[in-house]
Amino acid sequence: MSSLINNLLFYNNKIIIAGPCALESKEQLKNCVKFLRTLGIKAIRASIWKPRTTPSWDGLGINGLHYFLEETFQHGMIPASEVLTSQQAKKIVETVQEFDPNAGIILWIGARNQNHIEQRLIAQVLAENLPNALLMFKNQMWEDEIHWLGIYDHLISAGYPHDKLITVHRGFSPGQSPNPENLRNIPNYEMAMRVKNKLEIPVLCDPSHIAGSVDKVFHIAETALLYDFDGYLIEVHDNAKEAKTDSKQQLSFSEFEKLLQLLLLEEKVVKIHKQAV
Ligand code: PEP
Ligand code: MN
Repeated sequence: MSSLINNLLFYNNKIIIAGPCALESKEQLKNCVKFLRTLGIKAIRASIWKPRTTPSWDGLGINGLHYFLEETFQHGMIPASEVLTSQQAKKIVETVQEFDPNAGIILWIGARNQNHIEQRLIAQVLAENLPNALLMFKNQMWEDEIHWLGIYDHLISAGYPHDKLITVHRGFSPGQSPNPENLRNIPNYEMAMRVKNKLEIPVLCDPSHIAGSVDKVFHIAETALLYDFDGYLIEVHDNAKEAKTDSKQQLSFSEFEKLLQLLLLEEKVVKIHKQAV
């Protein structure tokens, strides 16, 4: 594992990236940074550009970028955000360079963003300009292992280093598939593990976007413990019920603490069980 990725490890050796779905205000950010720091979480997610299913509020955009970086860097945290276009990647590069060109940052390509030309451009802009950027890519919306693996090939072919890539399993759009648990997106944990073994990069589970609602986030995060995920990308918000995006699935601070405790406890149980068999 690269030292950048090592920096993200939580004390049970899992990578945890947590924070609100979208950056909404300075106050929200300050509250979330303060809360996550006290728990020892090192990376905070908050999207400044939001892809939406139907046209609506789509993030603070460039206006939020500067203070997102300022607040996180000031407190020694690693900011994480989605990037949709190479134009946005360039803006991020310019703004990071105003602070510190060597700053650690995590950017990700989301599930909806499957224009490979743009994916490669994003990878190229970041690889050439930000030596300490980790690039994550989520699986695409539809279930197709070859396509998921192909995203990695595109990023590598654009010059992104293998040891700075992470992938995220956020489930697949249900479409007409049976969905007895009524999940927002259907996981395929076995596929996620095959992708991990083939690509030899860390794979995170995103229980928030698989579940779609708080109660199911717990169940999905616990189920993921039975697989060899390297950690989690989780949504948590200081005023979850009033969140501007994904309000049903964002955990409150107390729910997030409860989930972490459960995961820590259950991971021990799973380990003991695995050692015993
Ligand atoms: C998100 O992480 O908030 C998001 C938009 O996720 P996805 O790309 O998985 O839909
Ligand atoms: Mn979200």
